[in-house]
Amino acid sequence: MSAKIISGKEIAAQIRDELKKDVAELKDKHGVVPGLVTILVGQNPASISYVTGKQKTAHELGFHSIQDDQPEDISEDALLDLIEKYNKDPKIHGILVQLPLPKHIDEKKVLNAIDPDKDVDGFHPVNVGRLMIGGDEVKFLPCTPAGIQELIVRSGYETSGAEVVVVGRSNIVGKPIANIMLQKGAGANATVTVVHTRTKDLEAHCKRADILIVAAGVPQLVKPEWIKPGSCVIDVGVNRVGEKISEKTGKKIAILKGDVDFDAAKEIAGAITPVPGGVGPMTITMLMKNTVKSARIAAGEGS
Ligand code: NAP
Repeated sequence: MSAKIISGKEIAAQIRDELKKDVAELKDKHGVVPGLVTILVGQNPASISYVTGKQKTAHELGFHSIQDDQPEDISEDALLDLIEKYNKDPKIHGILVQLPLPKHIDEKKVLNAIDPDKDVDGFHPVNVGRLMIGGDEVKFLPCTPAGIQELIVRSGYETSGAEVVVVGRSNIVGKPIANIMLQKGAGANATVTVVHTRTKDLEAHCKRADILIVAAGVPQLVKPEWIKPGSCVIDVGVNRVGEKISEKTGKKIAILKGDVDFDAAKEIAGAITPVPGGVGPMTITMLMKNTVKSARIAAGEGS
C-alpha cells in the first residue's frame, strides 16, 4: 500500500490560518501587532529570495514587517549597532539576520548580539540552552525542527514511546529535532537515537525507527529496505541534482531530491514527506509562529 503523503504546504497553510486569528486577537485585546525585521547584507540572490519569502508571509499575516537592506561593505560595528536599535524597538518582536554574512563580519558575534527574547530563529545560545533544559524554559524552537514536529503531530503519528531515529547531528536540524523529540511533554516523549557518519550500522538503526527523520544532505541516502513498514518518514534533505525547464515560467529551475529514495520508500512507509513540498514550507511558517509568540509575551501573555 502506498504511504500517506504528508503535505507541508497544506499543514503550513493550516498554521498560517491559525496565526491570522492570533494576530487579530492580539490586536483587539492588546493593540499589539507582531513586528518582524529581516536584515539582509549584500545582494546574494538566494538570500534575497529567502528574505522576500519571509517578508511576503509576514505581510500576508498582517505583521508590522520591515526588510532592512544593508550594503555588502557595512562594517561589523555598524551591523551590531543596527541590531541593538531593533533590540530596543518595542514594535519589533522578532529579528532575523539572513545568513551567510560577508567574510569581514563575524557571524557568531552578530547572531549572539540579538536579544534572546527576539531571537525568533531560535539559534541564540540562550535559546539552545533553554531547549536543552526543556519545560517552561523553552521559548523559541528553531524553525525547521519545530516544523518537523508539527508535521509529525498533525499527521496523527504518536511520538510518546516511539523509536525516533534522526540521521544527522547538525546544530540547525539534527541536534535540535533530537532534543525536541526527547522533551517530556506532548508531541515528544520519544526514545531518540541520533546517527551520523561515524555510526557503525546506519541501516540497522533506521530499520528500528517508528519515526525516521533524515537530515544528511546526501541524495537518496536512505534506501527502501532501511525503512520499517508503516513508519513515518520525514525527509529534510534538499539536494540539487540537476536542472529542468519549468512548465510554468519556461525558465531553468533546479531538480530537487531528498535524502530518501521517495518513490520506493512510499511503498513501505506509512507516511512520508515529499521533497519539495514537505519540510520546506514549514520553516517560514514556524518563524511567523515564533514572532507571534514573542509579540504575545511582550503583550504580557505567557512566558
Ligand atoms: P549538515 O550541517 O551538512 O549536517 C549533515 C549531517 O548529516 C551531519 O551530522 C553528518 O554527519 C550527517 N551525514 C552526512 N552524510 C551522512 C552519511 N552518509 N551517513 C550518516 N550521516 C551522514 O546539514 P544540515 O544543515 O543539517 O542539512 C541537512 C539537509 O537538510 C540538507 O540537504 C539541507 O539542505 C536540508 N535542510 C532543509 C531545510 C528545509 O527547510 N527544508 C532546512 C535546513 C536544512 P557528521 O556530523 O558525522 O559529519
